[in-house]
Amino acid sequence: MAYAIDETHDPKLESWVESANDPSTDFPIQNLPLATVIRPIEDSETGDEFTLSAVVAIGDMLLDLNRLSMTELAPEDDSDWDFVAVDQIVAEGKWSGLRKKVQSLLRKDNDALQNHPLRDEIVIPRDDSMMSLPLIDPIGDYTDFYASLYHATNVGSMFRPDNPLLPNYKHIPIGYHGRASSIIPSGTSIKRPVGQQAPAEEGGSPSFGPCKLLDYEMEMGAFIGRGNELGEPIDIKDAEDHILGLCILNDWSARDLQKWEYVPLGPFLAKNFASTISPFIVTMEALAPFRCGAQERDAGDPQPLGYMDSDENRKSGGIDITVEVWLASEKMREQGMDPIKLSKGNFKDMYWTVAQMVTHHSVNGCNLQPGDLLGSGTISGTTRDSRGSMLELTWDGDPFANPPISAPGTQRTPIVLPTGEERKFIADGDEIIMKAYCEREGYRRIGFGECRGIIEAARSV
Ligand code: MN
Repeated sequence: MAYAIDETHDPKLESWVESANDPSTDFPIQNLPLATVIRPIEDSETGDEFTLSAVVAIGDMLLDLNRLSMTELAPEDDSDWDFVAVDQIVAEGKWSGLRKKVQSLLRKDNDALQNHPLRDEIVIPRDDSMMSLPLIDPIGDYTDFYASLYHATNVGSMFRPDNPLLPNYKHIPIGYHGRASSIIPSGTSIKRPVGQQAPAEEGGSPSFGPCKLLDYEMEMGAFIGRGNELGEPIDIKDAEDHILGLCILNDWSARDLQKWEYVPLGPFLAKNFASTISPFIVTMEALAPFRCGAQERDAGDPQPLGYMDSDENRKSGGIDITVEVWLASEKMREQGMDPIKLSKGNFKDMYWTVAQMVTHHSVNGCNLQPGDLLGSGTISGTTRDSRGSMLELTWDGDPFANPPISAPGTQRTPIVLPTGEERKFIADGDEIIMKAYCEREGYRRIGFGECRGIIEAARSV
């Protein structure tokens, strides 16, 4: 079943929350992403200082669903309102109905909440430092894919100039099981990882110390809303029913650790020290107006096997999401300079769709569960400024140039910052800021908020 465009996407809808009507906001009344906020409370009985609340973002405000559920605006006979956490909304599959109700309460022409005596308790200013991970329960499982052909070709060209793509790439959405416990919300700073690096010459001993080639990967994350029973694969036709929505994901990567450890079983400590996600889950319903065809395959490419193919996936399996990466060094922040944009790509440029990832992940009977997170893989395009990692941005090769330029992985042109500082990889004190948004003629622009992280110096070893 596809998510349909309906009256909730009407571009004329306005909210009584004025900031939601600003054309540049990420969170107009057509978006309504889910999140969890950490609210200060004074509870003399328990001594608790904070409570976690499920919220919906609207303009620069948050609608607290828990506080709302305690008022008469949440009728007792309506079980849709009987929740306390985003987790329950996810587990019980209640979001679709809620979207309409929440939107109705926020509409300019509805004064039930607008004029409610507890309005300022229920609708509170958004302060990004108070956002938690979107779900209260720990993320059960995290899988990271590698779904951009352009990213895979760039990276493959650095290590295997004559044979950049391995033979399985166009047949299988390549992925690995990542680490769920180190997924952190936007704004959490990260200590530079420490680890083993490859010996300088063959047969030598590895070195040990702080990572020297620290990188980010611009990805989208997909939260599973509905799971499947062990042994019961998810059909491609039903795959999107199992997805709640998307967030921004920064898959921080220690390239020197990765290069030494990845053979033969893939990424391990190079990836599991931290993965940052934006706090808002933009639901599949909200994304309906921004769907596009799956990436068209070249004439010589194999078509996906039948279990990963459907008319609907070909026609509307893609999602048009512009993604941007920005950097601010410590020096830039001290001098009051704005971050600079490193790249701009698009999620529609992925070789595999989210539905294909879900279907392939479960085809062997593997059970996905509500709250699981799937990473898309680095989002890169064919142009230099659309590359979604520093490894690719500073690399001098270009397999998509005509004729292709294949340069060994060591040839790099640094990025020059407005302070005169140079970067081939991330330095201590650098803040990486990722943004994502959808725009289409005739619809309101919606966004994902930001995914931020500052790298701190490594612990001493
Ligand atoms: Mn990745």
